[in-house]
Amino acid sequence: MITVPTAVLDSLYGLAFGDAFGDRWFGILRRDGSAALEARTLPTEPLWRWSDDTAQALVLVRELAESGGTIDQDRLAIRFAAAYAEDTHRGYGASMHDVLRRIGAGEPWQEVVAGQFGGQGSWGNGAAMRAAPLGAWHAADLDAVAEQAARQGAVSHHHPEAVAAAVAVALAAALATRSRGGHTPARPDFLHAVAERLPASDVRSGVRVAARMPERTSVRHAAEVLGSGYRMSGPDTVPYALWCAAGHLDDLHEGLWFTVAGRGDIDTTCAIAGGVIAARTGVAALPAAWHAACEPLPPVLTD
Ligand SMILES: [Mg+2]
Repeated sequence: MITVPTAVLDSLYGLAFGDAFGDRWFGILRRDGSAALEARTLPTEPLWRWSDDTAQALVLVRELAESGGTIDQDRLAIRFAAAYAEDTHRGYGASMHDVLRRIGAGEPWQEVVAGQFGGQGSWGNGAAMRAAPLGAWHAADLDAVAEQAARQGAVSHHHPEAVAAAVAVALAAALATRSRGGHTPARPDFLHAVAERLPASDVRSGVRVAARMPERTSVRHAAEVLGSGYRMSGPDTVPYALWCAAGHLDDLHEGLWFTVAGRGDIDTTCAIAGGVIAARTGVAALPAAWHAACEPLPPVLTD
């Protein structure tokens, strides 16, 4: 029988909490401005619905469980398309509607994703937003983390920056998993350890800039310098989200409040930070009100 490692489930649940928490803020900020965010008051009703980040992370974990860790790209592409067709109202990015519809209609994923954006491929943050549990899965082997993170990313995102972003998130989750039960890695060390395994890219430059930021850097300044996802690209999202996670590796609750304060693509920055932090901490320490407020996940293994 297939078992999903505890750290993988922890990462997935942390990702889902971050996604649902962040997504809930979009409407509040639009309607009421930032007063509630600054006061850290978040209504627990209506339900905090998770979005595409969680829907795709769940698909990815199921693929890992079935394949034993080696991604079957053809099957994964079809699974992403099927999850999309089942529920299209999960906040998918504009180009992903087209990609997933066409894959679902039977077009080869390689051609569909390579043809996006005039042949450059998408460099959106969608390959990264779902990648943390994969890092937890392969935590014992960082080469496998990088390889499998890139393989899952390529199924939807052709641009090397999108793939580097996915590798960065998976590596961070792997390092968080490896630190379970041990001392808390220092933020600069943690970020440098991610950067040194990345290909030359804007993502790597961003993670290096993040690693060098003074400890007392404000979240606003970091979000402005690194980018908090306003452009929804890998390089504009992942260095910031990892900087937030790396500073809160022992406190998921504080880490998510901190991450959301940088605004931008808040469901995805919080999903990434949540997936990384929870790979070390789990989600049990989150307030009971959060557990009650967040939309439950379907069973990870359906067989
Ligand atoms: Mg989303």
